[in-house]
Amino acid sequence: MARMKDHDTLQRFLFDGTDIRGEISTLTSSYRKIIALNNYPTPVALLFGEFLVAASLIGASLKHKGIVTVQATGSGPVTAIMAECTENQGLRGIVRGNFEDLGNEESTNSCNITELLGSATLAITVEPEKGERYQGIVEMVSNELSDCLEHYFQQSAQLLTKIQLAASEKSVSGLLIQQMPLTQSPEQADLDWQHLSTLIDTLKSSEQLQLSHNDQLYRLFHEDNVRTFDAQPISFFCSCSLERTQRALVSLGSEELLKTCKEQGLVLITCQFCDQQYRFDEKAIKAMFTSPTNILH
Ligand SMILES: [Zn+2]
Repeated sequence: MARMKDHDTLQRFLFDGTDIRGEISTLTSSYRKIIALNNYPTPVALLFGEFLVAASLIGASLKHKGIVTVQATGSGPVTAIMAECTENQGLRGIVRGNFEDLGNEESTNSCNITELLGSATLAITVEPEKGERYQGIVEMVSNELSDCLEHYFQQSAQLLTKIQLAASEKSVSGLLIQQMPLTQSPEQADLDWQHLSTLIDTLKSSEQLQLSHNDQLYRLFHEDNVRTFDAQPISFFCSCSLERTQRALVSLGSEELLKTCKEQGLVLITCQFCDQQYRFDEKAIKAMFTSPTNILH
């Protein structure tokens, strides 16, 4: 088997003569760094890796400046898990919960959603810099994140989507194909979709984690006209800003904020990802509510 060559990159592809596009994404060193930093137990690290790579795949569909967030909230040891991706493949993410007691054994290369999240909901938010914010929410109906994501696209966007994710402690990789608006007959589109999604079902986790992107695509689609684009680097960064912090604060209401301000002298928000601090005094809080155009797009 070829050595993994695609460190922290995303590659887009499409199938000539069909209405199907795809992406393949792999995180290695950046993923290892982020899980080591947070000291997540193995099952949590694997699930987090899957969320990060899912955000990378879904973020690749952003056509303009913006952020895609993939997040789940649950009743299990992990209460919240989220990953965000910008239009130029900047990633960040976080996990919340009481999961210190979870074992570190790496029994399989998949992570069980029910064990970690309990009964959970999955939300995907698309936040363009200019334009409407959109959020869709579905129940997490499967133990596999890939199934939950496919269900999400079926339910909230009516987009045929096939996703395969694989995670280990060293790397995470994901492959997505999605139906685009049809230019050919529905019968032909259906045949193409059945053919390509059946091929993806044959892809093993070990292949996703060990083969280069090109080798995976060749292994699956060497008889199909797959056209690849230049690989795009993925980087970890923080997308927090004064504006986003204000937007989050406004939802708490002025009464609550002014009360905190009176008690503590100011409202201090520390970014949970990068420790950046945002300070708001009484004047700044009042300004947020008197000039809502500055906050709401
Ligand atoms: Zn930050």
